[in-house]
Formats: sequence, C-alpha cells, structure tokens
Amino acid sequence: MGFFSKISEGLKKTRANFLEAVDGLLKGHAKIDEELFEELEEILIMCDVGMTTASSICEELRKQVKEQKVTDPDKIKEMMQEIIAEMLSNTEGLKLNTKPSVILIIGVNGVGKTTTIGKLAALLKAEGKKVILGAADTFRAAAIDQLGIWAERAGVDMVKHNEGSDPGAVVYDTIAAAKSRGADVIICDTAGRLHNKKNLMDELAKISRIISRELPDSDVETLLVLDATTGQNAVNQAREFKNTANITGIVLTKLDGTARGGVVISIANELKVPVKFIGVGERIDDLQPFDPKAFAKAMFENTMEFN
Ligand code: GDP
Ligand code: MG
Repeated sequence: MGFFSKISEGLKKTRANFLEAVDGLLKGHAKIDEELFEELEEILIMCDVGMTTASSICEELRKQVKEQKVTDPDKIKEMMQEIIAEMLSNTEGLKLNTKPSVILIIGVNGVGKTTTIGKLAALLKAEGKKVILGAADTFRAAAIDQLGIWAERAGVDMVKHNEGSDPGAVVYDTIAAAKSRGADVIICDTAGRLHNKKNLMDELAKISRIISRELPDSDVETLLVLDATTGQNAVNQAREFKNTANITGIVLTKLDGTARGGVVISIANELKVPVKFIGVGERIDDLQPFDPKAFAKAMFENTMEFN
C-alpha cells in the first residue's frame, strides 16, 4: 500500500465520523452564518480536537471567510483542511546525526511503546542504519521477551538483563555494546508502570543522566508515545510527561482503531511538541513519519486512490 493509501486507511474511522457530520451540516446550510461556525466547533470537539483548538480553528475560519468574502458553504471544507494543515506544520523528522545517537521511548503502560520500537528499528534499518535495542523495561519478564520478538522481526541486536534488574544498568550496557559494535542508533524501551508516578519519573531521570554522562555529545530523541484511542486523556498525559522529561517528539499510536484522530491536532496545537510518527496498525510497516498535509487531506478525503 502506498503512503497516502495507508494514512487514508488508518484515518478511516475518524474521517467517517467527522466528514459525515460536516457534510450533513453543510447540506443544511444555504449560507454561512454564525450558527454554522458554532456547529462546526461542536463537530471538531466531538472528534477530540479539544475545545481550545476547535475554537482556534473556527476563529481562523471566520476571519478568512470574512476577508475573502466567501459565501458558498462548499468552500468551508477546503478552507478548514488548509487551516488544519497549517496548524500541524510545526513538525520535523528525527535528529540522529551523531554515531551513535539515542532514541528513548517513554509513555504509560499499553500505549504501544514496544511495538513502536520494533517498527522504528525496521524503518531505520531500511535506511541503512545499524540499530541496537536496550530492554530497559525490566518491570516484567514478558516485556523483555516481547521486545526480543520485535528485535528478531526487525533483524537488529538487543541488550537485555533479567526481570527486575536495574534499567539504568541495561542502558549503560546497551551504550557500551553500541560503541563496541559500531551501532548508529540505540533505541531504549522503558517501563510505563511502576509503583507510583514519582518512581517512574525518577527512573526516567536516572536513565537520561546515564545517557548524557556516557554519550555527552550524542543526539538524543526522547519520544513520548501516546494512544490516540484515549482522546483528550492522551493530551493530559503529554502535559504531565512534559513537566518532567525533555520530550523532543510524540508518536501517536492506534489511529487505525479510533474515530478520535482529531487528537493529533489538539496535541500539535496545544503542546507545541512536534508529532513525529503515527501508528496505523500492529504490523511492522504500520508506522509513518508524520506528514501534516497528508494528514489534513486524509481527514477530508478518501485518498485511497492515490497509491
Ligand atoms: P507498551 O506497553 O507501551 O509497550 O505497549 P505495546 O507495544 O505492548 O502495545 C500494546 C498493544 O497495542 C499491543 O497489542 C499492540 O499490538 C497494540 N498497538 C500498538 N501500536 C498500535 C497501532 O498503531 N495500531 C493498533 N491497532 N494497535 C497498536
Ligand atoms: Mg512495552
């Protein structure tokens, strides 16, 4: 499947909900009036765009309609698509210019961290990079095994210790292995659930300290993984992590299984952290670099035919 087909397929549920409501609304309106803007705002909120962001989108829409003297409701969709694409445009790829460089994957339990690591490893390997994984989620044995399966699938090395061992020591050993084997990228898994939140944040801080001590000049990406199916909860999680960790990007997973895809817009607009990847399925090739224009287009159009 091509790039557009995949994002289009991944956003199927979001688009179905959103477009049906927008089309229904526009059909019932012969002219553009204040009621139309208010109902559009409601629809955006229903798709998890969030109140603040929904209101900004409609504010911009009002302004453009007025400036350009638009009277045809049919033009609204096109204008919204552009406003959304613009809102999402604060994005950038991974910065991994040093050898080695590090990607630290963080987020609460079950959001898709381990799966994302497997997909990311495959993606980077396909770019010709030598990747090594660190199994620093030592909380459960199953977590280490699961990462092992992904390492095998992606065809990359992994460093692990036993269940319950010190995650900092795993990171330390992964860095040592990366140096001796000449790896380009280290990707570290981390636990999403500990005894309490302070514990979790302390552990992440400790891992970060080890990375900056052992690799002071390396590029480090700290990617926060969020589950799109949790809607506005994902935005709240991002706020909490942002307070304690130096997040450089967000990966939004499970867009394929939800109608709440509008949460991407909320995150990009309210948190000012770039969305770098989206997850659109459980398979190894179901991770896409985030493309604002393609995303906005896929919210409004079935782009399946563009493969
Ligand atoms: P972790 O606890 O954060 O490491 O989460 P996992 O990587 O173990 O993933 C939890 C579940 O979410 C697994 O069943 C994954 O297959 C599933 N998952 C992860 N990413 C996606 C995605 O993009 N789409 C779908 N549909 N499922 C996903
Ligand atoms: Mg995991």
